[in-house]
Amino acid sequence: MKLIGAHVSAAGGVHNSPDNANKIGANAFALFTKNQRQWVAKPLEQDVIKAFKARCQQYGFTPDAILPHDSYLINLGAPEREKLEKSRTAFIDEMARCEQLGLHLLNFHPGSHLKKISESECLALIAESINLAHAAVPNVVAVIENTAGQGSNLGWRFEQLASIIEQVEDKSRVGVCIDTCHAFAAGYDLRSETATDKTFAEFDLVVGMQYLRGMHLNDSKGGLGSHLDRHHSLGEGEIGWDCFRYVMQDSRFDNIPLVLETINPDIWRQEIATLRSFIPETV
Ligand SMILES: [Zn+2]
Ligand SMILES: [Zn+2]
Repeated sequence: MKLIGAHVSAAGGVHNSPDNANKIGANAFALFTKNQRQWVAKPLEQDVIKAFKARCQQYGFTPDAILPHDSYLINLGAPEREKLEKSRTAFIDEMARCEQLGLHLLNFHPGSHLKKISESECLALIAESINLAHAAVPNVVAVIENTAGQGSNLGWRFEQLASIIEQVEDKSRVGVCIDTCHAFAAGYDLRSETATDKTFAEFDLVVGMQYLRGMHLNDSKGGLGSHLDRHHSLGEGEIGWDCFRYVMQDSRFDNIPLVLETINPDIWRQEIATLRSFIPETV
């Protein structure tokens, strides 16, 4: 089954996010479990956790269909010790919040070397951060998002994702979320079915499709290889519809959250409906 949704608002409490996802005809969604621009958040209250779980059940959102995203402040590969410790503590808190909400996935951007340490040192720190989080919190899978490679952000080359995974001890609790805008901006062509097929063949070869635990479906304002992280509505950017049709028609993308982070929430319902219209009818 295709699980399609968007990164919806959790304003007023995480228990509001299932309502927001249901309103746009989604059967999957992403959310922040705390303010994404702050380091510390107050713990989730029992009644909020209860309401979140009850509403997910009511609308039929299973944990496999929900892809929480961590705070933008966290850098799990931070070169400076103090920032690294702060990031690791915050990441463990994010993971614990997922666990409390009964969720199995946590999506995050790998990290940046800030030109102070080498790429391989940074990748090793990121992997170590994941190992520490695994030791601190049970069950939750660390889902590494590929980046556009803006600035010194790592994780834009599939080889970098593979290097992190290689250094993670518990391979059953590490995965990847491919953001189509980021992949395209990083230089992986997605402008036709053939190009998309080639990109995922490379992903399978370098990382392995078995690690794909989610997708962010975004068109791109920036061109191929531009390293610009600028999302666009589906079909309106440099990627076009072919890539999204490809994803809808390929069973390797079944049963993982396929999440819109496109720029116009007013048309999310329509974008989801269009994506659904591509799904081949089964007999
Ligand atoms: Zn992201
Ligand atoms: Zn994304």
